[in-house]
This record gives sequence, structure tokens and C-alpha cells, in this order.
Amino acid sequence: MEILVCVKRVPDTAENEFELNSAGNDLDRDDLVYSVNEWDNYAVEEAIQIIDKVGGNVTVITVGDDESEEVLRREMAMGANDGILLCDDAFDGSDGKGIASILKAEIEKGSYDLVMTGAQADEGAGQIGGMVAAMLGMPYASLVNKIEIGDDKIIVGREIEGGNQEMNEMQLPCVISIQTGINEPRYVGIRGIRKVAKVDIPVKGAGDLGVDPESIGEAGAKTKRVDYFVPDMGEGAEMLEGSTDEIIEKLIERLKAKGGL
Ligand SMILES: Cc1cc2nc3c(=O)[nH]c(=O)nc-3n(C[C@H](O)[C@H](O)[C@H](O)COP(=O)(O)OP(=O)(O)OC[C@H]3O[C@@H](n4cnc5c(N)ncnc54)[C@H](O)[C@@H]3O)c2cc1C
Repeated sequence: MEILVCVKRVPDTAENEFELNSAGNDLDRDDLVYSVNEWDNYAVEEAIQIIDKVGGNVTVITVGDDESEEVLRREMAMGANDGILLCDDAFDGSDGKGIASILKAEIEKGSYDLVMTGAQADEGAGQIGGMVAAMLGMPYASLVNKIEIGDDKIIVGREIEGGNQEMNEMQLPCVISIQTGINEPRYVGIRGIRKVAKVDIPVKGAGDLGVDPESIGEAGAKTKRVDYFVPDMGEGAEMLEGSTDEIIEKLIERLKAKGGL
């Protein structure tokens, strides 16, 4: 089975203090610590477990800058066989449809049975998987938390509101978005990272993919982010400041004072 997993390099929420950029429409992305999007890590683990059972290849792909190569190598150290970096100045400022168009252009050059994305990434849009599926004319299931592989079909479980579970049979090839908790992603050690440090990762730009420059990047973005802010605090709300220990202490004090403990 040929599996492609779309992965995104995102700021690591555990490692960064976030501030807004001067335009006030995004995070200040200078000097942030980055890692692979958590949902994508589960998707890669699932893909590796599938090929361990039925054979095949896992390719990881990302749309990003030169530094995004590090997340491809990390996922290859985990067990993905190949990586593809889609990188071009023309991709900067793409909206979700732009990112999906770029991915779709590369996906249709390959012959994948299963395309996986995470259920969502750092911007929380949750739109790439569905858009890629629609552009490729493939069936799509979101929030997948269980997969059973058949010959030309898969059975996927989906998490439903209220803790209910739904099972669907899907014809291959198809696109699915993976929910966290579907598995336990394996640990990636330094030795694994070293092993793939020199593996060739092809880099492709707009020309290689044959995407229309007008449909991607800022020129093609029909959705433009115009503001980004922390909402005003509601009445009675209080923001606890300090280190984690200090915040815990203050929270316990507040709960005791209000009779909650
Ligand atoms: C500099 C900059 C400028 C931007 N400008 C705009 C803009 O003008 N308008 C706008 O609407 N948005 C803009 N964005 C947001 C960007 O387009 C979003 O990343 C995109 O909409 C996807 O949303 P998401 O990150 O929430 O991904 P989701 O749709 O939540 O991600 C779901 C899954 O899709 C896959 N995926 C997502 N992104 C990638 C990727 N890059 N490579 C491979 N797989 C991926 C992953 O598997 C991920 O788990 C900008 C972002 C940046 C950093």
C-alpha cells in the first residue's frame, strides 16, 4: 500500500511565549521553536503500522520553507520511507485552498492508495484534508480514530459527538484526517535522526508542480486574515499570571476561597 501523509511544521506551544507581529495579523514567528503538528505525528505512526502489516511505503510531504525539511526528517526517522518538500516563495501567504492546491498538484503525480492528514493543525482550520479530497475527486473521512485495512477498501472509525463511534467502509484511494489518540506515536531517538540525516529529500516548486501562480500565495488567497487578538476578558474572569507552580497555587487559593475544595 502506498500511503502519503501530509505534515506541517508548527510552533511548539510548550516551548514558546507567543507575541503578535507588528501587523497584528499573525504570531511573531521569529525565533520560535517548531515541531511537527501533533495530529500529523499520529497519522505517520498509523501509516507506519499499516505498512508493517500489509507492506508498502510511507511518504511524508510538507508545504513549507527550507527549515520544514526538519519535520520530514523527523518523521522519516520515525519510519516513513520518503519525504517530499514543496517549497517556493510563490507559496508564501497561501490560504487553505492554496495549500490544498499545492498538495493536490504533487499527489496526482504519484499513485497513492491512501492520503492522510491530521484532523487540524496550528491554525485550527481543519480544511486541508477535505479540500485535497474534493480536488482529487476522492472520498474523504474526517476525525478518524480507527482503521482496518481490506483489499481495495478500508474500514474507518470516526469519533462522534458525545463519545459515540461510527464505522464506515471506504473505497481506496481515499483521503482521511486522523484524530489524536488513534495510537501511541513511537519515540524518535537521536540515532534514528542520524540515520536519515543524509537521505535525499526532493524539493519541488511551483514550476515543477505546474500550479498556476495566480491560484496560490497571496495573489490566490481569497481568505485573508485581517486581525488576530486575544479576546477581552469576560466579566468576572481573571487571568492568573506567573510560573506554572505559582498559577497552580493561586488557582487552589481561589478554589478554596470559593468553597470549591
Ligand atoms: C505566513 C503565512 C501567511 C498566511 N496567509 C494566509 C492567508 O492570507 N489567508 C488564509 O486563510 N490563511 C493564511 N495562512 C494560513 C495557512 O494558509 C493555513 O496554514 C492553512 O489555511 C491551513 O490551515 P491549518 O494550518 O489550520 O491546517 P488544517 O487544515 O487545520 O490542517 C489539517 C492538516 O492538513 C495538513 N496540512 C496543513 N498545512 C500543511 C502544510 N503546509 N503542508 C502539509 N500539510 C499540511 C496537515 O496534515 C494538517 O494536520 C497563512 C499562514 C502563514 C504562516
